[in-house]
Amino acid sequence: MTNTIGYRLCPVVFFFYDTEIAIALFMIFLRASWLTVLLGVVVIVHATETDRSFMDALNGVEKIRKTKPDLFKQQLDELSPMQSQFSVEERCYYDFLRFYAEGYEGNYESTIKNVNALNERCPSPANQLRIKKFLANIQMITGDFKDAIQNLNDAIELTESVDDAYLVSQVLNVASISYRLMHQDSLSIKYADLLINANYSREDVCLGQFNKYRVLMRQGQARQHENEIEQATANCQNSQNIIAALFLQLDWYRYTIDKSSTADTEIAAALDHLLSLESQVADTGFKNIHVYYQALLSRLYFMAGQSDMANVSAKKAIEENNVIGETEQLLMAMEVLVSIHLERGQYQQAYRYLKEKSVVENEIYQRKLATQVAYYRVLHENLAQELEIEQLNQNNELLRLENQLAAETAKRQQLMMLLIASLLLLLGVWAFKIKKRHDYFKEVAEIDHLTQVFTRKAFEEKVRVMLEEAAETNSPVNLAIMDLDHFKNVNDQYGHLVGDWVLKQVVLTCEEVADEDILVARLGGEEFCLVSPSISQLQMMRLMEKMRAAIEAMDSSDSGAIFDITASFGVTTTALSGYRVSMLLTHADLALFEAKNKGRNEVVAYDEIMQDVMAVKA
Ligand code: GH3
Ligand code: MG
Ligand code: MG
Repeated sequence: MTNTIGYRLCPVVFFFYDTEIAIALFMIFLRASWLTVLLGVVVIVHATETDRSFMDALNGVEKIRKTKPDLFKQQLDELSPMQSQFSVEERCYYDFLRFYAEGYEGNYESTIKNVNALNERCPSPANQLRIKKFLANIQMITGDFKDAIQNLNDAIELTESVDDAYLVSQVLNVASISYRLMHQDSLSIKYADLLINANYSREDVCLGQFNKYRVLMRQGQARQHENEIEQATANCQNSQNIIAALFLQLDWYRYTIDKSSTADTEIAAALDHLLSLESQVADTGFKNIHVYYQALLSRLYFMAGQSDMANVSAKKAIEENNVIGETEQLLMAMEVLVSIHLERGQYQQAYRYLKEKSVVENEIYQRKLATQVAYYRVLHENLAQELEIEQLNQNNELLRLENQLAAETAKRQQLMMLLIASLLLLLGVWAFKIKKRHDYFKEVAEIDHLTQVFTRKAFEEKVRVMLEEAAETNSPVNLAIMDLDHFKNVNDQYGHLVGDWVLKQVVLTCEEVADEDILVARLGGEEFCLVSPSISQLQMMRLMEKMRAAIEAMDSSDSGAIFDITASFGVTTTALSGYRVSMLLTHADLALFEAKNKGRNEVVAYDEIMQDVMAVKA
């Protein structure tokens, strides 16, 4: 099954270069037969080679754009049908070269527009560099110096991210030329030196030397560098850059031969040499150098006293000059014409050339001014931008510090919160402990430690509440006091510990007999109080009787001694004594007193005493 898919795909993949790698991998992935795997590999190799060959082809075309412009255009046309197979960057590269060709024909305005559009859709550093460098080049020609310098700066910056020595060399060359034309001599020399030292190719070394020595000669340092200039000229000739070689030679004479101090023989030799260059100059077909050559020739003729020849050459120079850029040679030709006419006494003619000369001079001055203004504007704008960036950085730093401060404050606040939380926790724990201790003490205070029943204090509080509630509903509460009989004797005869044992056992016995609703408290010593709100007086009397009997029946042998244990009870009720604790206790105590009087081990109700009292009164 997988094999079938692989075989079916094979013929198809060769038609889709962009997707062929993916399909080939897909085929391998499908674990197709060896034949299919082989075909997949072939397709990958084919595809990568096709890619590389497009790049190589474009690189090759780019390199001949200056030296062989016709072949350059022809090869571009040949690549045109393959555009659909280009990657995005190849497409950019190709389009760039097309626009370059357009620019070469002098169609600057539309070229700048097209290349600018390209700038937006071609982000790779290499293409960006080509675009910026080319724009800088054209803008230098059209006099858009400011944009030219900006683009040049961008291109120079891009050299750091482009790993292509050819491209970098081109930028160095454009930078050196541009700065030379802008009269930024030291910058021009700096880039020329970089180009020379990069030693990328003999042609590039020639271009670096060409720029460097032209600047130095213009600065009046020709003689100092005589040997180097000679070598540079030879190097340029060897690398087939005849124009550069010629410019170097013409510059040499222009800056070394001075009317007043040069010997006639030297002038004659210079003239001879210059004339020997005539055919070379003509062969270049480059107008600029023609004009320069004729202007220089006219000057040398004039210095050699051949004013007719000087006149012819000067006029040729003026006629041929229609080039923007290097117009300074025109001045030389005009100067010669002025001198010739002055010498001949033709003042009107001399004045005419003088006037023309001043127009050209003004043009040159304006141009020089414009380039310098542009240069300094860009410089200042960049400086301003740097300052702005620095200010932004400072703002960022300020912001960072603020953030840091905020973070520290937040941290401090967090710490504070933590501290407060810890304190609160500590307080909580403390409060909890206090409460526990309080509860403990309260319990200790409320519960009698020996018998584990309520203390007198707790009893009074609880009974008071109980009575208040009972008073509201007018329900009865019964209260009894129990006192052990002759308890002192137990202590005296068997010791205090046995006495304690008796106290505990008596309470346990009472609790066993009573139901849950009864409240037991130790009023003090061997005296206890029993309160019940939920039973009638009769039931209370029966309960006390039960308790009395139970105590009487207690077996003391567990204490280690045998003796009798009895208790007396005095009972009252709210129906007789009212809802005040003190009154209830007094009446119960009276009843208890009566029980003791009766001989102990008795339960006596308060109403019994009352009946006796009533009887006595009656
Ligand atoms: P009566 O029958 O008249 O009540 O005689 P009694 O001996 O019980 O009464 P009295 O008030 O004379 O003696 C009470 C004794 O109770 C005195 C005291 O030593 C003893 N007692 C009080 N509290 C305790 C206690 O906690 N433990 C012990 N072992 N004895 C106590
Ligand atoms: Mg007592
Ligand atoms: Mg007693």
